[in-house]
Amino acid sequence: MNSNKIRRKHTWKKKKQIKYFTHFKLKNPTENSKTQNKWQVLFGEHELNWKHIFTMPYKATVESTLRNFQYKYIHRIIATNKYLFKCKLSNSNLCDFCSENIETIEHLFWECKHIQPIWNQLASFLEQQQLNVKLSFLNITNL
Ligand SMILES: [Zn+2]
Repeated sequence: MNSNKIRRKHTWKKKKQIKYFTHFKLKNPTENSKTQNKWQVLFGEHELNWKHIFTMPYKATVESTLRNFQYKYIHRIIATNKYLFKCKLSNSNLCDFCSENIETIEHLFWECKHIQPIWNQLASFLEQQQLNVKLSFLNITNL
């Protein structure tokens, strides 16, 4: 391959990347999406403020690792065993911690008996601080 062909190929790749970035940047984060539909099924009739939810990772912290994690959680792109098993990348769809339930995002971060003590500790801490906050999967509310 001569240098002109290599240069042209490189330029084409760069244009493709810019086009992808532009498309990604222009996508409206509050439009109804497959991710929102999945969350809405779990939350049922609870009305969810999507603009607030999608901007939360950027308001809650400046730490990029935490922002990245929150983004993945909100967009449901965390590789759970349920997903990995479906892709044949894991031998089991069961939770790595309890081995009793299918490892979904909801189970891993809320329902698992190994995560419940952390939520209980947080609830106790909030109670000690005299912050009347009720924690549940569907709702975190001030009492
Ligand atoms: Zn579990």
